[in-house]
Amino acid sequence: MNADQLYRFLFQQRNVRGELVQLSASLDQMLLGHDYPMPVKQLLAELVAATSLLTATLKFDGDIAVQIQGNGPIRFAAVNGTNQQQFRAVVRLQAELQGDSFRSLIGDGHMLVTITPKQGERYQGIIPLTGDSLTSTLEAYFAQSEQLPTRLYLYTDISAQQARAAGFMLQVLPVDAQKAKADFADLVILSDTLTQAEMFELEAEQLLYRLFHQEQVELFPAQAVSFVCGCSRDKCSAAIISLGKDVIAEHIAEGKLDISCEYCNKTYHFSPADLTELMQQF
Ligand SMILES: [Zn+2]
Repeated sequence: MNADQLYRFLFQQRNVRGELVQLSASLDQMLLGHDYPMPVKQLLAELVAATSLLTATLKFDGDIAVQIQGNGPIRFAAVNGTNQQQFRAVVRLQAELQGDSFRSLIGDGHMLVTITPKQGERYQGIIPLTGDSLTSTLEAYFAQSEQLPTRLYLYTDISAQQARAAGFMLQVLPVDAQKAKADFADLVILSDTLTQAEMFELEAEQLLYRLFHQEQVELFPAQAVSFVCGCSRDKCSAAIISLGKDVIAEHIAEGKLDISCEYCNKTYHFSPADLTELMQQF
């Protein structure tokens, strides 16, 4: 199957649109080099699928950060996605895991969604964690921010050989509210029959046909989804310079400075000679 693709579709006779994302290799790349416990990998994979769906709702160039903050073993988890469907993720743990449900991982807390257009104003939405899943929290987010009924389905399966995640979303179009609501209810009943195996194994076209063969569904061209960290030695150099002369001098005295990227786990080494060269830039 052609994974790591995002699809958008539209029901031609219904006031509802949808999105479908299937991920695999991009998740493997994201997890490479990180030694997260399994439930943490699963949550991150879910969060990536969700962010991909959210990013696809953007009507402009820009990016979305979806952050979860809580008082559980996972203190912080975040995924950044762009309208080019490039993502990266980070997680910070503060204690041993006590279970693998959403709430036993995160505890009480909130989700923060930050939408940053290349041009124009930044939008931030914050909502308390709702129910015991990322899905219920995201549905509450949509109800609050877009006020459009939205249904989400998220699936993950992380094995030693391969990581997989998938997301499926239906959203009412902001026209003819009454008809849209009835259409949405019909389509949700059909979507509720979706199985994880279907989500992982069927091509988008087959999957939509299996669910909605009595509907006229327009499927738009796929967009590739990829893991792109975006870190670089230049960015690390800029960060070091921003520490100021005194701090850099301390690191020169210590004999080195290593900067590890939280997202891709790559380490950038700066020797005293490298640091001395950066000092010249003041
Ligand atoms: Zn990186």
